[in-house]
Formats: sequence, C-alpha cells, structure tokens
Amino acid sequence: MKRLIITIDGPAGTGKSTAARLLASRLELPFLDTGAMYRAVAWRCLHNDIAFDDETQVVKQTQQIRFEFSGNRLLIDGNEPSDELRSDEVSQAASVIATLPAVREVLVAQQRKLAGEYSLVSEGRDQGTVVFPQAECKFFLTASAEVRAERRWKDLREENPTLCKEMILEEIQQRDERDQNRKTAPLKPAEDAIIIDNSKKTREEVVNLLVEHVQQTTDYS
Ligand code: C5P
Repeated sequence: MKRLIITIDGPAGTGKSTAARLLASRLELPFLDTGAMYRAVAWRCLHNDIAFDDETQVVKQTQQIRFEFSGNRLLIDGNEPSDELRSDEVSQAASVIATLPAVREVLVAQQRKLAGEYSLVSEGRDQGTVVFPQAECKFFLTASAEVRAERRWKDLREENPTLCKEMILEEIQQRDERDQNRKTAPLKPAEDAIIIDNSKKTREEVVNLLVEHVQQTTDYS
C-alpha cells in the first residue's frame, strides 16, 4: 500500500496529542509525538544545568538523546516518555529551546529518519509545514486559549488542588506567543491543512472527524 503520512499540528492544550494517539491507534499506525522530543531536550538541559540560550550546548544535549520506535511507540533513551516531561517547567523550557534553529535542525532530521519510508501519524507544530510538507492528510487543531486553559486546569486539579486557572492561561499564552512568533518554523497551519476548532467538540467527536476524513480522502481503511 502507498505510504500515508498524517500530520496534526496546533497550539498547546488543544488535545492534539490525545487525538493523534487515538487516531494512530485506530489506524494501527506509529505515532510520532514530536513535542516529547523537544521536551526531552529541555528536561536534559534542566537536569544538566545548561543555559537555554547556549545553542552549542543545547545542540550537544540534543545529539546525545536516542530516539527510536518500538512497534508503534516512540522511545526516548530506551524508555516511554515519562510524566516528568509533562511538567510546567519542562513545557516552558521546551518552548524556549524550540526557538533555536540548530536544535530544530537536529530534531527535524531525526523525525524524518524515524519516519523512514513508513506510514505514520506525526504531531507537533511544524509537521505539515516543514517536516512532512508532502503529507497526504494535514490537520490543524485549534481552540480558544481560555478553553485550553480550562481543560488543562481540570486535568491537573486533582493532582494539584492549589493550581490557579489564570496562571495556566498565562503560561499557555506565553507558549503560544513564542511558538507563533519564532523565526524558524513558527506555528501556523499549512496551506493545505484542514483546520478544526475543537472548542466545542468532545475528544471522540474530534477523533471520529479525523478518521472519517482519512477514510474519505485516502485509500486507507
Ligand atoms: O506539543 P507539546 O506541548 O508537547 O510541545 C512542547 C513544546 O515543544 C511546544 O510548546 C513547542 O514550543 C515545541 N514544539 C515545537 N515543534 C514541534 C513540537 C513541539 O516547536 N514539532
């Protein structure tokens, strides 16, 4: 069968990771979570006390991480991405190191290498615009910053009851600002992307929409 690349891009907190994971699982395809790759670099820099603006050192850290697929899942240095990678500190740090062109260059090359000649679902900020411009299906998920902050607050409040919604909103807005305005590979929909505003859609509705579109526009079933 012909190779099928599906890209899902969009800002922080749109639920695109979940949608991409579920879509990949429904289609039995590998899922490339490129955000986890930027997060792994950020985590390593925090851990090794590397200044985020020291491009040479951040690139060195990036080159030392081993990314590979085990079946349909991405492993980082031999392990599944840990919960530590999802912390607010790592989220903010990831969006800072993601502005460094040399770091992006290394990770983009890794992403293309990981994809090889296979079909896959790839999720991030630049998958449809830069990494896989030839992708057959491109989606761009959006939702208002308020809705995204509210969802994240609901997800985290059990674990952390003191968490303040306004602070989450501020962090999301800071990340949006950095992701959209950086010089290299800024976050934007590809010209041929299908834009889905999921502010009022459930997770299932979004995944069903994605599956339907893939089935209608490709020979994948
Ligand atoms: O998607 P996730 O929230 O895990 O991504 C963390 C950060 O990594 C984003 O805020 C963004 O700055 C960066 N990123 C990126 N390009 C990608 C994936 C993530 O710049 N393809």
